[in-house]
Amino acid sequence: MFFEHCQEADDFLAGLERRNEGEPEFLQAVEEFVRTVMPFVLDHQKYIDAQILERMTEADRIIIFRVTWEDDLGQIRANRAWRVQFNNSIGPYKGGLRFHPSVNLSILKFLGFEQTFKNSLTGLPMGGAKGGSNFNPKGKSDREVMRFCQSMMIELHRHIGEDTDVPAGDIGVGGREIGYLFGQYKRLENRVTGILTGKGLSFGGSKVRTEATGFGSVYFCENMLGHRGDSLRGKTCLVSGSGNVALYTVDKLHTLGAKAVTLSDSDGFIHDPAGIDQDKLRFLKDLKEVRRGRISEYAERFKGVTFHKDQTPWGVPADAAFPSATQNEISAKDAETMIENGVQAVCEGANMPTELAGIHQFLQAGVLFGPAKAANAGGVAVSGLEQSQNALRLSWSHQEVEARLQGIMHDIHAKCVEYGENPDGTVNYVKGANLGGFVKVADAMLAYGAV
Ligand code: NAP
Repeated sequence: MFFEHCQEADDFLAGLERRNEGEPEFLQAVEEFVRTVMPFVLDHQKYIDAQILERMTEADRIIIFRVTWEDDLGQIRANRAWRVQFNNSIGPYKGGLRFHPSVNLSILKFLGFEQTFKNSLTGLPMGGAKGGSNFNPKGKSDREVMRFCQSMMIELHRHIGEDTDVPAGDIGVGGREIGYLFGQYKRLENRVTGILTGKGLSFGGSKVRTEATGFGSVYFCENMLGHRGDSLRGKTCLVSGSGNVALYTVDKLHTLGAKAVTLSDSDGFIHDPAGIDQDKLRFLKDLKEVRRGRISEYAERFKGVTFHKDQTPWGVPADAAFPSATQNEISAKDAETMIENGVQAVCEGANMPTELAGIHQFLQAGVLFGPAKAANAGGVAVSGLEQSQNALRLSWSHQEVEARLQGIMHDIHAKCVEYGENPDGTVNYVKGANLGGFVKVADAMLAYGAV
């Protein structure tokens, strides 16, 4: 069984629920974590004595503020913004900013919590954080987005710093937003420093940062399959989303000889049985990164492609799946369908895209399941490399950064195997990633005493 019954875990989670009422995403993320690490914690009295799980599930600090800005019609608008500084035991806080109308405290707490262990897995000295706003950049002009970002940074700049907290992008925050945020920070502080990652290449950004999460997710899947003596070559793959993570997942799948046949956005999904090749990707990058269009336009542009309104891609038969849009996009029912259709590997490009019951089904069916903490850690890993380059005032080549990314994904896979290998030689990557991330953070917290 994936979740063995454990009274201590039940009691802990009941207390957590009382302390975090009405925060379902946060409770879901902690439940997945606690149910896998509790047996290990119970075997190590030092963690019990230090109340390590109670402390790890309480954010260090949460900053909530109002962002007031003016739209193109001259009307005053107000949004809510947050920075959840979750845990800085192993390094300065690090984690993205998300701009989406659905953003709330529960979502940012789940993301900040997960980020802590993901960052630990990279082997780089980074703590965990997440932030963002319920601001919706969709349909806004560049000027409106700029005014929002500038106003947000007027408050945010007090709480961040290259040795304190280094935000990056996430849903709704790409190169354009990072440029506006960084420009405003520089103006307020009169310092040019590595305060955000995902910056443009002309002002301190790292090569391969844009591609890193998608590339890393495919490398992780290739590692999981390789451990079984298989590879991605010739495999048909489902990808959801059509943003940063999804497009560079498709890109690397094509390079490694696999065939991505779907992409999606919140309007529906496209199915291209011929596969998305580099020519089609060029169209997609222009559509999504420059024109900010909708995925349905892909079906209008290319022959043999169908658009399925208000549906997700999980019913299309395939060998592997890369959920790369948002949380809880694969339900238990979807997981059942995918298993029936013979899916062999699922690699989470997005954060927490699979419901707990879906994870349970994949593990029970022996599907290789790469959890987000491990599978999408490539993005933050290259962000860490961007911080190093900024501190050194150097810029590494594309080849150098990509080789480091590949090495980090390989090491994360090895860590998951170290902590997640079953007696029969199969690997529970959920357990491996949670324990592999936990130990380093927990031991740092013990070293600091009661803080
Ligand atoms: P993005 O560029 O903004 O793209 C997000 C994509 O997902 C868009 O196609 C969007 O469609 C779709 N989407 C978002 N919310 C949705 C919803 N509620 N329902 C259906 N579709 C939805 O964002 P991203 O950077 O690719 O991030 C995607 C996922 O990867 C997120 O879970 C993020 O936390 C995770 N992640 C990102 C990075 C990174 O480096 N960027 C690193 C690690 C993990 P619409 O345009 O219709 O909204």
